[in-house]
Amino acid sequence: MKSFGYVAAMDAKHAIELLAEHGAAAKILAGGTDLLVELKDTQRPPGIVVDISRARDLKDIVLTDEGLRIGALATHGEIMRSALIRDLCPALIEAAHSIGAVQTRNLGTIGGNLMTCVPSMDSGPALIALEAQVTVAGADGQRRMPLVDLFVGPRKTSLTPGQLLVEIVIPKPNLGKPAAFQKFGLRKGQALALVNAAAAFWIDDGKDAFKAPCIALGAVAPTVIRAPQAEAYLAGRAITPEAMAEAGRIAATEAKPISDFRASADYRRDLIAVLVKRCLAAAYARATAKTKERVS
Ligand SMILES: Cc1cc2nc3c(=O)[nH]c(=O)nc-3n(C[C@H](O)[C@H](O)[C@H](O)COP(=O)(O)OP(=O)(O)OC[C@H]3O[C@@H](n4cnc5c(N)ncnc54)[C@H](O)[C@@H]3O)c2cc1C
Repeated sequence: MKSFGYVAAMDAKHAIELLAEHGAAAKILAGGTDLLVELKDTQRPPGIVVDISRARDLKDIVLTDEGLRIGALATHGEIMRSALIRDLCPALIEAAHSIGAVQTRNLGTIGGNLMTCVPSMDSGPALIALEAQVTVAGADGQRRMPLVDLFVGPRKTSLTPGQLLVEIVIPKPNLGKPAAFQKFGLRKGQALALVNAAAAFWIDDGKDAFKAPCIALGAVAPTVIRAPQAEAYLAGRAITPEAMAEAGRIAATEAKPISDFRASADYRRDLIAVLVKRCLAAAYARATAKTKERVS
């Protein structure tokens, strides 16, 4: 490993000061599960690593008037153990549970996962299906934007040097929205997604129809994407297994998967159709189970 400087931030404010001081020379270290692999191999190490892992104010998972705020430093393990997330966004727990092994989930953070910006990241689809927003901060203040706008291309985000991903917010109107996440890898555990997907929708009361459907796909395009044509097909349509299957087929036409050593593009398209259908069915099962819970 080539040598680099190191400095630890005590909280978010300190991290932003350090990032402003070191500019483009700085690289943020959170759980390090991705960055350390990169640092081990790179011939061009950063000038300085800014370690934010001690910044406890970036770890909170809290319910506010805006929605559910998840600090960028919350680990996948903490997300899995959060009663709030289990109750309000269980699809995110499914995604967290699918990441790596216990050790990776205990160190790896949700912010780090999003900031890797790899198309196969597992948190992205579950969050995008719930139309999550992110807060980004720098020396000139902070701003909120849709999570989809963070993703620019493989390993490329819209953040500029000096900026820190502070938190992820699932907007209040989407808390409790029935949703599900599915992943397919070459084995059950410790595998990157060949395809992952998430879907969320409300049930139009009285009509048993899809309302505000949202479908997100990973590992099938340069970034995590939505499937707007499949969403438009579902909106207002009666909830049936046939409609779910057709939405899956439409979503498969919207993606741009590649062929690589893990799978062909055609295989990935088939997977999209199956996983989207399964997500929709699982979200519906979740919604009906909740209704039954309320009635009994
Ligand atoms: C064995 C193994 C298995 C894995 N399996 C999976 C898997 O199944 N699914 C999956 O999605 N990923 C997987 N990963 C990738 C990785 O573990 C996750 O993406 C993890 O969530 C990264 O988080 P981290 O805190 O470790 O990030 P780090 O490694 O600390 O950082 C990753 C990147 O994000 C930047 N960064 C981190 N936090 C911030 C922030 N708050 N603001 C701005 N930039 C930031 C860093 O500068 C770096 O570029 C695996 C990794 C390993 C080693």
